[in-house]
Amino acid sequence: MSDSDLSTQYLIIGGGIAGVSAAEAIRSLDANASITIISGERDLPYFRMSLTRYLAGEVVREKLDLHDPAWYQANQIELFTDLQVEEILPEQKQAVLSDQRKIAYEKLILANGASPFVPPITGHELPGVMTLRSLEDAQTILRTCEKPVNIVCISG
Ligand SMILES: Cc1cc2nc3c(=O)[nH]c(=O)nc-3n(C[C@H](O)[C@H](O)[C@H](O)COP(=O)(O)OP(=O)(O)OC[C@H]3O[C@@H](n4cnc5c(N)ncnc54)[C@H](O)[C@@H]3O)c2cc1C
Repeated sequence: MSDSDLSTQYLIIGGGIAGVSAAEAIRSLDANASITIISGERDLPYFRMSLTRYLAGEVVREKLDLHDPAWYQANQIELFTDLQVEEILPEQKQAVLSDQRKIAYEKLILANGASPFVPPITGHELPGVMTLRSLEDAQTILRTCEKPVNIVCISG
């Protein structure tokens, strides 16, 4: 008997465009497969590429989501947000989640993307040094810019 708390046929780690596209592709090939996406981010999967336009005020928050919650329900794609996969146990075909639950899988898809590299420049850890990768990052930058600030942008 399995000691896992949850189980799925297809476990997808990451709710970026790769993870959601993988779920869409599986569903188009198999109407009955159980599909689970674990996303470390708080928000529903969104168009990451649009974050710069969101910062510039050219795209509103409502237009960022890849799909609304009803889409995941209609396609029977189980989406867990704000949850990390902390460990993969390939021998047992299980993954350990940040809330300590275990999820058993048949197939595992790693769609965990990338995170920004911060060069080890003196002071990089000080408040006010930010990266732009996630919607949360963009919202932090927008909040910071509510009052007049001087900004240096590294990278173009
Ligand atoms: C501001 C910005 C603008 C961009 N503009 C362009 C562009 O114009 N053209 C272009 O081609 N590309 C652009 N990119 C790059 C593009 O967004 C990425 O190539 C793309 O998002 C990669 O998608 P992905 O699904 O592979 O990974 P990601 O989008 O990085 O998604 C991975 C997801 O996995 C989650 N994750 C990671 N580890 C775990 C874990 N252990 N447990 C649970 N979840 C986890 C992460 O939180 C994240 O949500 C841009 C990126 C940014 C940040």
